[in-house]
Amino acid sequence: MKVLPALTVSLLFAAVASAGRSAPSTGMPFYGDPPDAHHPWAVHDQNRPQPKRVEPGTFSTPEQPGQPPSDAIVLFDGTTASLTNWEADTKAGEPSAPTKWVVNDGALECVPKSGYIRTKDEFGDIQLHVEWAAPKNVKGDSQGRGNSGIFLLGLKGTADGPEVQVLDNYDNATYADGFAASVYGTNPPFANALRPPGTFQVIDIVFRRPVYRDGKPIDAGYVTVFCNGVLMQDHTPLEGRGGHMKRTFAGEFPEKGHLKLQDHGNPVRFRNIWLRPLPARTVEGGTNGYLDAAATTAKRKEIAATVRADAAHLTGTAQLLRLAESLVYESDAATAARVTQLGAAYAADLKKLSGAVLDAKKDEAKSVQRAWQYLAKWNFVSADYAPKSALDAVIKAQGWDAEKK
Ligand code: MG
Repeated sequence: MKVLPALTVSLLFAAVASAGRSAPSTGMPFYGDPPDAHHPWAVHDQNRPQPKRVEPGTFSTPEQPGQPPSDAIVLFDGTTASLTNWEADTKAGEPSAPTKWVVNDGALECVPKSGYIRTKDEFGDIQLHVEWAAPKNVKGDSQGRGNSGIFLLGLKGTADGPEVQVLDNYDNATYADGFAASVYGTNPPFANALRPPGTFQVIDIVFRRPVYRDGKPIDAGYVTVFCNGVLMQDHTPLEGRGGHMKRTFAGEFPEKGHLKLQDHGNPVRFRNIWLRPLPARTVEGGTNGYLDAAATTAKRKEIAATVRADAAHLTGTAQLLRLAESLVYESDAATAARVTQLGAAYAADLKKLSGAVLDAKKDEAKSVQRAWQYLAKWNFVSADYAPKSALDAVIKAQGWDAEKK
């Protein structure tokens, strides 16, 4: 990490504070490399929104479920009331019906032969947390032992995945692409990190659906899975919905679907089920990361407008600097002309001062000079930009440029 010299920071904060603006929490204008054709923000951009605050939850132990983070959508919290978030997985077009799964000792338990269950709500891209326990009383083998499944973006009344497999593989071999934490029928997990049957396993999933535009794939869609904190799937590309015996192929998904849990004939128990919808990817309008040229231009225009609107509430040097800052995001003739006018006036007014009154302006003048240097370095203004040359002359005449930083 590189930081501004302390003196420079104090100078800039002084300039900002003296003009009546509240100091930004981090980063400074005219500092990191500016926006480019694929990045609407400067490096270390002070205008970039702060991440939203989320109060973290607590981790689970085998004995005790943890607390979800503050922004989680809780789908099952151990109460019978939260069972109302779920319903039987009736076929599309059929009336909805309550699930026959039961809440038993704080867990949501599959009643064999009662059918899959699904969330009443539909979700798209999610971070998903699920805990499950296979029956302590071990019965069956291979796919017949403690089998259930977590179906992502599921369709009503079908057995189509993608399914993150739930299976008691603690001491139970099966085909690898049907192992616990596999993307069923597509990709085995990296490892077997299961706890013994009867003990709760913690599954964390990051799911991104495939994105198509005009029938063409622009993002394959991915599944990342952790089991008991151990990585199982690392951004595994989706190859369709996977499934039993059949090879499936990449294709379009709806924007949203149901989260489903499988009835595979075993009384598997679930607890502490929650999810967090994920922010949009750049291909869906997100503005973090590497953007295409059109999206970058649009976002830079939007940021520039915001900065100019902010400048309208400012006066004096603060307004000059804020307007100049907007030019980094978008070239605008009227704003450029105004910046030149204010910049020329600033240097001219400074030149009229002397003695202690002029000395008191030193920090501010150097912050403006730094802005001009940045804008010239990145060709937002010319190297011989008149307001810059005039200010440089005043600073040089005072010997301020020769002082140690
Ligand atoms: Mg299954």
